Amino acid sequence: MTQHTRARRAVVIGAGIGGLAAAVALRRVGVEAVVYERARELRPAGFGISVMANAVAALRALDIDLGLEKRGGTVERSDLLDSGGRLLRSLPFKEAGDRIGAPSIAMYRGDLQSALLDALGDCPIELGATATEYEVTGDGVRVRFEDGREATGDILIGADGINSAVRRQRTGAGAPTDGGFICWLAVTPFEHPKFTPGLNAHYWGLGRRFGLHDVGHGRVYWWGTANMSAESARSWGGDKAQIARTYAGWADEVQAAIRDTPAEDIVAVPAQDRPFLEHWGEGPVTLLGDAAHPMLPSLGQGGSSAIEDAVVLAQCLGALSDPVAALRAYEDLRRERTREMVEVSRRFGALEQLDKPVLRTLRDAYLRFAPESVLMAPFERALTPKLFTIGDQ
Ligand SMILES: Cc1cc2nc3c(=O)[nH]c(=O)nc-3n(C[C@H](O)[C@H](O)[C@H](O)COP(=O)(O)OP(=O)(O)OC[C@H]3O[C@@H](n4cnc5c(N)ncnc54)[C@H](O)[C@@H]3O)c2cc1C
Repeated sequence: MTQHTRARRAVVIGAGIGGLAAAVALRRVGVEAVVYERARELRPAGFGISVMANAVAALRALDIDLGLEKRGGTVERSDLLDSGGRLLRSLPFKEAGDRIGAPSIAMYRGDLQSALLDALGDCPIELGATATEYEVTGDGVRVRFEDGREATGDILIGADGINSAVRRQRTGAGAPTDGGFICWLAVTPFEHPKFTPGLNAHYWGLGRRFGLHDVGHGRVYWWGTANMSAESARSWGGDKAQIARTYAGWADEVQAAIRDTPAEDIVAVPAQDRPFLEHWGEGPVTLLGDAAHPMLPSLGQGGSSAIEDAVVLAQCLGALSDPVAALRAYEDLRRERTREMVEVSRRFGALEQLDKPVLRTLRDAYLRFAPESVLMAPFERALTPKLFTIGDQ
């Protein structure tokens, strides 16, 4: 019988949410991790994120408490409104969180990054390290970087985002798929009579949506979407007046949030994903987060599922003595769940961004009158974490 040596050292490519969460979780099960990041400094994206209950519950399964409740705002409900601010429906996220045993939390990305870095402690993060290729060796893996550096480990975790170099070598992946809309995003101090504690409001228009979220400490996280090609979104020139025009006549709090945000604090990104990838890894190599399963932002699960990936990966490596078997077990446990998230996010994206008035009327009627259990079902499935279930081997 082959004797396997438990993975001791992991090379993690990418210090985004997924890579940092993976390093935290791996260390918790005794795997030493070194993180390699292309950027020369760790700067958080200047916008917000909802860390959903499934991610918080997954972290708790490894006894990891990032203290997120103190850093952001707990999501109690999700209000769906029309563009004028009239309530279509209020979805009970607090109750869903109570059932799961963990809250969903809206927060500033910088606060999430700080929480992960605090939990990482003295774990080494090498900056300015752009991974270019890897080679599977007799006893693990060797990674090469643009500047000539090399790193070796028992396993390689490609957590290097939607344009992952690790994935590219595995699959020869081309360009991402254009979701057909731009996302403008910002976090800013905000006061408005409609900006109440725990606010989590989604305004639905024609080919456009807007979100306002309390991320704690008097700050609002807002985002707006508008139908546009990825190419136009990438070349958006920072014109705040264009955003104001896009939401002219919308609810006052929407217009006020845009007005109160300095133009230089607004970030624009194209919505993109990729067709679902069946096989993420080979031998001692695997993918995690957006590198494995990039999804449109509609379900708010991209980062949360990366955190869940990290926990399940660590659980598998902690429980299985053969690292390669552990990586395949991780991929098997994550495949169907993340496939559903990618597909649901695509379907939601199409519904959210539809731009025909007749269809909008039908959609709004659906949001108003569909049974709550039907509207909540995809969220409930996403919010309920699927963790490691095989016994120790
Ligand atoms: C508009 C918008 C809103 C969103 N809202 C939410 C939300 O509310 N909730 C949620 O859970 N998710 C949300 N997401 C999704 C979420 O942002 C992503 O899924 C998440 O950031 C993915 O994390 P990651 O670590 O896998 O990848 P990334 O965050 O992309 O991190 C990858 C890292 O790898 C580095 N890197 C890349 N290539 C290399 C290389 N060759 N060598 C070394 N380093 C490299 C990059 O510099 C980066 O630091 C949203 C996304 C968008 C676009």
